[in-house]
Amino acid sequence: MRSEFQYRRPASIDEAVAMKADLGTTAMYWAGGTDMVLHWMRSIHSPELCIDITRIEGLRGIEIDRDSIRIGAMTSLDELDRSADRHCLLNTLSDITKLMCTPQTRTIATVGGNLCNASPAADLSPAFVAMNADAVLAGPKGRRRVRMEEFFLGVNKTSLSGGELLEEIRIPLNPDLKVVASYRRIDRTVVDIALVNASSCISVDSDGVINGCGIALGAVAPVILRVSDAETLLLGLSVRELGRDREELQKVEELSAIAAKPISDVRASAEYRRQMVKVMVRRTLQDCAIQLKA
Ligand SMILES: Cc1cc2nc3c(=O)[nH]c(=O)nc-3n(C[C@H](O)[C@H](O)[C@H](O)COP(=O)(O)OP(=O)(O)OC[C@H]3O[C@@H](n4cnc5c(N)ncnc54)[C@H](O)[C@@H]3O)c2cc1C
Repeated sequence: MRSEFQYRRPASIDEAVAMKADLGTTAMYWAGGTDMVLHWMRSIHSPELCIDITRIEGLRGIEIDRDSIRIGAMTSLDELDRSADRHCLLNTLSDITKLMCTPQTRTIATVGGNLCNASPAADLSPAFVAMNADAVLAGPKGRRRVRMEEFFLGVNKTSLSGGELLEEIRIPLNPDLKVVASYRRIDRTVVDIALVNASSCISVDSDGVINGCGIALGAVAPVILRVSDAETLLLGLSVRELGRDREELQKVEELSAIAAKPISDVRASAEYRRQMVKVMVRRTLQDCAIQLKA
């Protein structure tokens, strides 16, 4: 473990990305520090420079407009928790935060830190993938948008490169559709990370016909998996069918289990995890149906 590192506190995104671009992998952004401190203590990372992004204007906060929900990367899990009454998708995200860490840790841990840490078992990532969210990355050459499922490249690996910083997450909204989402996880204790998790997001038109569907799985591969072939099966169905034992739903469960690439470890066998994928996906879809009062 390196016992010393330099500390800088840039005032703007441009200043932060320039610092990081200069020093490359020996410099790291510091958000809440809840993952970083652990990694540092376990010698997973030994940064020469910590770039504290906690005071940068504009990286925090949640805004909703007609077409999207914007969540600044430095928004704390606690702030996200308190946004439940602003939109039903935020209500789902708020429920997820209640499963994470402890109340104290949630006041400093950030949404961006959770995504950039890129743990395959992280709780927020599957929900953002299912919600069709984009990650907005700021770099020395400007900004680019990456679909959330493409943001994760492996365990603790993201598509951030060349000094880039995660600026915000954008969840698209369609004012003509009603949208709901759900997240479920299997864990051994409340402070455990997920053994298996899944999230679904469903949009319906005014006749209750499913017009958009996102299904994402976590903790069953090195990255969050999106099950696009299963999503397609649900398009055009009436939302009322989601609560019933339809052939399409069984197929969705099977396709999800096939997509999963779980491992066996001390916490659970691969076979158990694969079976639980089916259960988690089914429950998230049923939750969506209940929210839509199908
Ligand atoms: C006791 C405890 C329990 C936990 N329980 C859970 C749990 O149940 N579920 C769960 O999902 N997580 C859990 N975590 C993990 C952790 O709290 C989250 O991942 C947290 O959201 C990380 O945010 P942070 O702001 O502290 O990130 P940091 O530790 O500051 O950063 C994490 C990584 O992301 C990088 N980074 C941070 N922000 C940015 C940015 N905007 N742009 C580019 N790179 C960035 C950092 O350089 C670092 O590599 C737990 C952690 C602890 C300590």
